[in-house]
Amino acid sequence: MLPDLERLIQLQDIESRAAIANKAIAEAPGRIAALDALLQSATTALAAARQSLEDNKTSRRSIDKDLIADQQRLDKYKDQIMAVKTNEQLHAMQHQMKSVEDDIGRQEERVLVNMMEADEINAAIKKAEAALKAAQAKVAAERAAIENETKAHQATVAEMTAARASVVGAMDNKGAVETFQRIAKVRGTALARAEGERCTVCQVRLRPAVFAEVRKNDQIVQCDSCNRILYFAAPQAPRAPEAPQAP
Ligand SMILES: [Zn+2]
Repeated sequence: MLPDLERLIQLQDIESRAAIANKAIAEAPGRIAALDALLQSATTALAAARQSLEDNKTSRRSIDKDLIADQQRLDKYKDQIMAVKTNEQLHAMQHQMKSVEDDIGRQEERVLVNMMEADEINAAIKKAEAALKAAQAKVAAERAAIENETKAHQATVAEMTAARASVVGAMDNKGAVETFQRIAKVRGTALARAEGERCTVCQVRLRPAVFAEVRKNDQIVQCDSCNRILYFAAPQAPRAPEAPQAP
């Protein structure tokens, strides 16, 4: 194979590995922000559940106060009923006492409802605490993993930068590097494997004379359709990975 063609295949491999690493590095902040949002959401849910318990306690204190006031009214009527002189006064007093007793019954129902709510809220708090703990563990582990991955990707980028300089420096035909870079900028990948008289990237059929030239791998031949630099390799053993195409 023409040494420059071999170098361009290496260059394509370098570029695609660098692109994968750069994409992962660029995506890391978004992934960390998503983890932070998860943690924030679990923290907010727990704070809301705890606030519900405070509201429930406030409500209970208010009911208890009403209940004490009603009890005091009832006690007062019980004292007063001893002093009534007429049946009419007695009936009126009994009527008032009945009304207060009804009020007390309603307050006691409110206490029961409030206690049931408190049970539900306490269960919700336990659940929210467990969810927050789980979120904290998950976020810590995933954040560390992302940070380690990013370091590895940064090392890959540095390694690819050095490899690129070395390969480009070794190229005999600097014009071919420019062609490579121009196509890569537009197409995402600058090289295409030829197989069965086709460009395997754009799938357009090559003219037989062109394919015959490509098969020799001894010069830079571009695809008539997509302009990519063509090389030939046995189908079962492609020389370069099929990098994703630019949109
Ligand atoms: Zn093509």
